[in-house]
Amino acid sequence: MEAWRRQLSDPVSAFPIAKAGPAHIATLKTFDPPLDALEGRRFRGVERRGKRLLFPTDDGELVLLVHLMTAGRLKTLRAGESGPKTPAFALEFEGGSKLVLTENARKKRAGVWLLTPEAARAELEHLGPEALGLDAGELGEILRRESRRLHPLLRDQRAIAGIGRAWSNEILHTAKLSPYALSTDLSDDEVERLAAAINEELARGLELRERGASDERAYRVHNRLGQECHVCGTPIAQVDFEEHTIYYCPDCQTGGRVLKDRRLSRLLR
Ligand SMILES: [Zn+2]
Repeated sequence: MEAWRRQLSDPVSAFPIAKAGPAHIATLKTFDPPLDALEGRRFRGVERRGKRLLFPTDDGELVLLVHLMTAGRLKTLRAGESGPKTPAFALEFEGGSKLVLTENARKKRAGVWLLTPEAARAELEHLGPEALGLDAGELGEILRRESRRLHPLLRDQRAIAGIGRAWSNEILHTAKLSPYALSTDLSDDEVERLAAAINEELARGLELRERGASDERAYRVHNRLGQECHVCGTPIAQVDFEEHTIYYCPDCQTGGRVLKDRRLSRLLR
């Protein structure tokens, strides 16, 4: 991403924008302000925040935010240079050069947002990187940033975006990790296992949702107190942690140990 940022910065700020669009309906995520509000303005350059690229206008009024996900590609075309027939998103600059986003994938996952600077700041402050697609290296960085218990860390949207408490239960069960394990204590193997479990479980959830199944049907651990673990047959246990109830398999995840109640109300007594 950093290489991209450097490569794009000069060409996109050389001329004002003559025409914004077209944009694929799945790619452009915002409609207000409208895309043509960019026309006549010039970008100040390109900034990067995690996997997101930011194109602020030099008048300080708008920010174009681009997230390429895994398959998205950005390219600048010189005037007259031929490009893709149907880009997911395109901008044309005065003089004829272009910035085009292509995504060579069946499912369009890359996104473009046109935001005010305030909205862009809020968007970036509150969201960690997308959970689906995280690799072990990226996950390891997040885990080692500070020592936190895995269950609350996984569902902290500022750390990782896209995992709720139910899927935290499913993911940690698949990774065979204790919900109370400290993020900084994980071995490289365990980090890899957790990254694989995040992708595996979220992909499973996504697929079930696309088939119209309710989330409840997708859960194998969450909300299944006393039912047999689908891996080892041990009854699923639960424990209250802060304001949430965590479900886990004592055999698969905690070496047979029963986790202690960590409700805030109890801790404060
Ligand atoms: Zn089990």
